[in-house]
Amino acid sequence: MSIAGEGSWSSGMSKQRVYLFDTTLRDGAQTSGLDFTLEDKILIARMLDDIGIDYVEGGYPGANPTDTEFFTQKRLQRAAFTAFGMTKRAGVSVANDPGIAALLDSKADVICYVAKAWDYHVHVALGTTLEENLVGIRQSVEVAKAAGREVIVDCEHFFDGYLANPDYALACATVAHEAGARWIVLCDSNGGTLPGTVERIVGEVARHVPGDSLGIHAHNDTEHAVANSLAAVLAGARQIQGTLNGVGERCGNANLISIIPTLKLKADFADRFEIGVADAKLRELTRIAHRFDELINRTPNRHAPYVGAAAFATKTGIHASALAKDPRTYEHVPPEAVGNQRRVLVSNQSGKANLRTELTRLGIEVAKDNPKLDTLLRLVKEREAEGFAYETADGSFELLARRTLQMLPSFFHTVSFRVVIEKQFERSGDGVAVSEAIVHVRVGQQMRRASATGNGPADALDRALRLALEAYRLYIDDMTLIDFKVRILNTGTGATTRVFIESEDREGNTWSTIGVSETIVDAIYQALEDSIVFRLLKAGAPVLEAERHADAAERVVPSD
Ligand SMILES: [Zn+2]
Repeated sequence: MSIAGEGSWSSGMSKQRVYLFDTTLRDGAQTSGLDFTLEDKILIARMLDDIGIDYVEGGYPGANPTDTEFFTQKRLQRAAFTAFGMTKRAGVSVANDPGIAALLDSKADVICYVAKAWDYHVHVALGTTLEENLVGIRQSVEVAKAAGREVIVDCEHFFDGYLANPDYALACATVAHEAGARWIVLCDSNGGTLPGTVERIVGEVARHVPGDSLGIHAHNDTEHAVANSLAAVLAGARQIQGTLNGVGERCGNANLISIIPTLKLKADFADRFEIGVADAKLRELTRIAHRFDELINRTPNRHAPYVGAAAFATKTGIHASALAKDPRTYEHVPPEAVGNQRRVLVSNQSGKANLRTELTRLGIEVAKDNPKLDTLLRLVKEREAEGFAYETADGSFELLARRTLQMLPSFFHTVSFRVVIEKQFERSGDGVAVSEAIVHVRVGQQMRRASATGNGPADALDRALRLALEAYRLYIDDMTLIDFKVRILNTGTGATTRVFIESEDREGNTWSTIGVSETIVDAIYQALEDSIVFRLLKAGAPVLEAERHADAAERVVPSD
């Protein structure tokens, strides 16, 4: 082992670990207009697990069927799977509390209780005594610990409570700590506390509960949720709770997408602390942030710090020429560190370099001087102006690139498709809508035509296309559509529709594809076709040629 190796190892060891706790699926789900399905929750939990978040809070088992179902299985590989619920209610024993029973029945590794820490709320909201609230916290922690779970206690309204009655707020935190909770999280539930106060109060609490057991949960009602989270870390706290893109009730929660790069790239934090997010994942942050927006059907904020399209954009002129000489003159961090891009001059040269980086990420190597790169760059720009968002649709981007670079086998050609939607009314006036799709494809030299009915046009088209591609059944049988989002875009020329599809194979690999058209059914078909072609490509399906077609078809179609 080299001396240098040992040196870097020991400097790594001297940093203190800060833990990240994501509550997108619980507190973030309080965002108005946001409603996660079970499939959404599974996808988002996987994204968070993959980034390197330490705790993923999945919801409130027992509170609604989706959350209860979500907690019937472990959903994460690395992150701690965390369930949220209330401490024991007054007047029932801990053994007879149905809320606690639902938490213990769930497959969660970690149980996060919310507890009242403001005397006013104990009296008014719980209608119980201060002492009984403390007993409830202690017993709730103990029963979960006895069941082998790690326990977190979120002290609700902690900062307001501390200002009103510091002794009682502290008593809530210390009783949870003494009962064995791993983390005591100080919550700024109303989001009105400012960074100076947060730093002072966290510092005072850290004299009673060690800082490496303290966390911060900040809301953004004064635009200080990120600042408050960082202030708490400087005062000793070692866990930060937040959400993707800062979603959450009212003005949102602390934005982890801003906090992560600050902790990793800014010397004030990076020199002292480390987190579970690897540098390689940091370089995917922009894509992750935009993909999450796509999942929740929201337009990404162009001006979002670090990840917004405008975060590293400079108007042409003196800034641009200085930037071209030395980017550091006008950039606080290198955009590529967070997977973003410098947007300046839009010179073909810089566009091509970015494009090649993207292609390399997908495993496509292209020479710098390949003229097809110019064609691809032009296509991407044109299509993005039409409404395609390739950044969030890796599958379609890879297909466009391979098609343009002539690196995509031609598995089949679509000749035509049609969808008929018929609504039949009964005498009562109630009606049923039936969608029927007819798809006509050419596989090799053979024409194939198939029709199918389905639950809506997307389902009908999906069934019909799969039937028409009978020859490839072996390769596409195990893929399922797990997410389907439609958005109406207002482009310069009027309204167009963007369809975004997420597909999954039996091994759990997922890929996303996109379609854009003035006609919704056309957009659906584009995204569906890409989804299947991508699967055929990745599965190494053969191209069924004209002469060999009959034989080949027999080889790939298993006989029943
Ligand atoms: Zn909250």
